[in-house]
Amino acid sequence: ETFPGDDTGNRKPRQTPGMLYSKALPTPVDKVTLLAWSDELAEELELAKPGSQEEIDLLGGNAVTPSMYPYAACYAGHQFGNWAGQLGDGRAITLGEQVTSKGQKWELQLKGAGPTAYSRRADGRAVLRSSVREYLMSEAMHYLRVPTTRALSLVSTGEPVLRDMFYDGNPAYEPGAIVMRVAPSFLRFGNFELLAAREEINQLRKLVDWTIDNYYPHLQGEDRVLTWYREVVDRTARLMVEWMRVGFVHGVMNTDNMSVLGLTIDYGPYSFVDNYDPRFTPNTTDLPGRRYAFAKQPSVAKWNLGCLGGAILPLVSGQEELVKIIDEYDEVYWTAFYSMMGNKTGLDEVRAEDIALIDDLQTMLGTVKPDMTIFYQLLSRLPAEADNKEDVLRHFEDSFYQDLAEKQADLFFDWVKRYQARITTNTISAEEAGKRMQEHNPRFILRNYLLHQAIEELDKGDDRLFVKLQQALREPYSTKYDAFFQKRPSWASQKAGCSM
Ligand code: AMP
Ligand code: MG
Ligand code: MG
Repeated sequence: ETFPGDDTGNRKPRQTPGMLYSKALPTPVDKVTLLAWSDELAEELELAKPGSQEEIDLLGGNAVTPSMYPYAACYAGHQFGNWAGQLGDGRAITLGEQVTSKGQKWELQLKGAGPTAYSRRADGRAVLRSSVREYLMSEAMHYLRVPTTRALSLVSTGEPVLRDMFYDGNPAYEPGAIVMRVAPSFLRFGNFELLAAREEINQLRKLVDWTIDNYYPHLQGEDRVLTWYREVVDRTARLMVEWMRVGFVHGVMNTDNMSVLGLTIDYGPYSFVDNYDPRFTPNTTDLPGRRYAFAKQPSVAKWNLGCLGGAILPLVSGQEELVKIIDEYDEVYWTAFYSMMGNKTGLDEVRAEDIALIDDLQTMLGTVKPDMTIFYQLLSRLPAEADNKEDVLRHFEDSFYQDLAEKQADLFFDWVKRYQARITTNTISAEEAGKRMQEHNPRFILRNYLLHQAIEELDKGDDRLFVKLQQALREPYSTKYDAFFQKRPSWASQKAGCSM
C-alpha cells in the first residue's frame, strides 16, 4: 500500500508542546534511483537488497508500507553554546524499527525525504553532495571501529534542490538525494533538554525510563538515572578518544547532534585532519570562534554532557551527585586517551614517564603539522637503524607539507630519539608492537578532497572513484588501497568542507 504523501497539513512548521514527535509522511519525489547499498549492514538487518522499482521506491519515500509508522522526532539543543529552543527532525523521517531474529532493534530513518513539523523555513531535502558524504563517512567510521550511526542506502530523487553553495557563495540547484540511516536509536541530548526546558517532567521521566529500558537494560535499581548518566558520560568520553585516534573532526557538536548512545551522529561539515592542526575546524560558520576545532572536541563534549546533566536534574535527588559524575569525565577521558596513544605508538604499557613523551608528541605534531595518518604509518615502520637526523627526517619526508625550519626539525628529531630509546625498553617484541600500531592507526582515511573529487565525478556521471572509495573504506587498516596512501595534494587545501 502506498500513501500519496501528507496532505493533512501536519507538516506545517510549528511548536509542538507536549509532543515527543509528530507524524510526518515522506513527500514523494520524481524518480528514485538506487546509487549505493550496504550489503553487510543489510545482512545484519536481515533485509534483502531491493530489486524491483517498488522496493527501491521505499528508500526514497515514494512508498510507505502498512507496517511503517513514519514520524519526525521533536528535540531542542544548544547550538554553538547558545540555547536554540525547539529544533527537531527537519529533514529526517523515521519509518519504523526493524527487529532482527536475534532481537536487535534498528531504527530506520530517511534523511532528505521532505518537510516535517520541524523543518522551520527549510525544505526538508538533502543534496547528493551531502548525502554521499553522510553515506560514505558513516560507513567509513564503522569500519574504523568508531561507534556511529550507519547508512543502508543512497538514492537520487531526480529532483533539483536549491542550495547556497559554499564554493562560490552563490545559490544553485543541485541534484537531490536521500540516505536511509540506521541506528539502534537516534535519540540526542536535545530530546531530553527539550522536555526539561518545557518543564514536562513527567514526559522527561518517561523518556529516560524508556531509554534505559530499551538501550541500557542492564541498568536497574534505585539510582538508575544517575547510573545511566554516568554511562552516557563514559561512552561520550570514549567516543571522543576514538575521534582523536583517527583524526576525525565533527564540525557541529551542538547538543542536538550528540547521541545519547555515544554514537557519532549527524555527518555535516566533518573532515579528517590531514596536516595535524589542533585548531582545524571544517565548519566555515565555526571559523571565528573555532569552538568545534579538532583539539577542542573532548572539552566541548564535556560541556554538552553538562547540558544533558542539567536537563535530568529534576529527576535526581541533588545536584552534587550529578556534578561529581560530570567531573569523572576527565578521568575517564584521559585514562582512555593515554591508553589509546600507547597503542598508536606501540608501547607495551603506558608508564608514568610515558605521559610526558605522549604530551610532547602532541606538541611536536601541532608545531610541525605533518600529515597525521602518514606520520603514524611511518612511525610504525621506523627502522631501528635510523639514528641520525638526516635518516630520520628522510624516513618521514612524505608526511611533511612544507620544508621544516631548523627548529621544527630539531623538535621532530628530538622526539623521535626519545621515542626510540623508550621502545628499546618495551617488554613486547618489535613484531607485537608493530601489530598493535597497525591495528590502531588507519592507513586509509576518507580525506575531504577525495570525497570532493568523487562527488564532482559522480555529478558528471562517472562513479568509478565513488565505487573505489566504498571498497577502500571497508579495509582502512590494510595496505590494499595504497593508491590512496598519499598526503593531500597541493591543489586542495585543508579548509571547510560542505555541510548542507
Ligand atoms: P544540523 O546543523 O544538521 O544539526 O541541523 C540543525 C537543525 O536544522 C535540525 O533540526 C535539522 O533537522 C534542521 N535542518 C537542517 N537542514 C534542513 C533542511 N534542509 N530542511 C529542514 N530542516 C533542516
Ligand atoms: Mg543535526
Ligand atoms: Mg546535519
